Amino acid sequence: MILMNFTSNRQADILRLNRRKQIMANRNDRHPANVPGAYYVDDTCTDCDLCRSLAPQFFLRHEESGSSYVHRQPVTPEEVAAAEEALRQCPTDTIGNDGTLPPRPQTTDH
Ligand code: SF4
Repeated sequence: MILMNFTSNRQADILRLNRRKQIMANRNDRHPANVPGAYYVDDTCTDCDLCRSLAPQFFLRHEESGSSYVHRQPVTPEEVAAAEEALRQCPTDTIGNDGTLPPRPQTTDH
C-alpha cells in the first residue's frame, strides 16, 4: 500500500512537472524592460498584479505595455525565495528563471 501511494504520488509529481514545462515562461519572449539576470517576465502577463503585491522589490508595472517586469534581480537566499514564490504563484506562468547568474558586483580592490 505504501509503495502504491509512493508510485502514484511520484506519477502525480511527474505530471505536474510535465504540465509546468509545457506552459512555463519563454525566455525568448522576455519583456524588454526586464533587467538582465535570471528572473524575467515574458509577454504573456495579464497584469493581475499578484507578483507586484508579493514581491514589489523585484516586480513593477510597465505602464506603457500594462505588463509586469523585473526591475531588480534577487541576490540573497531570502530574496530568491521571494522571487520564486512570485514565480510559483503567477497564474499564467509568465515569470521565468533561466538560471543566469546575477552580475558580480564591481570592486576596486586589486
Ligand atoms: S503574477 Fe504573472 S500575470 Fe500577474 S502581473 Fe505578475 S507576471 Fe503578470
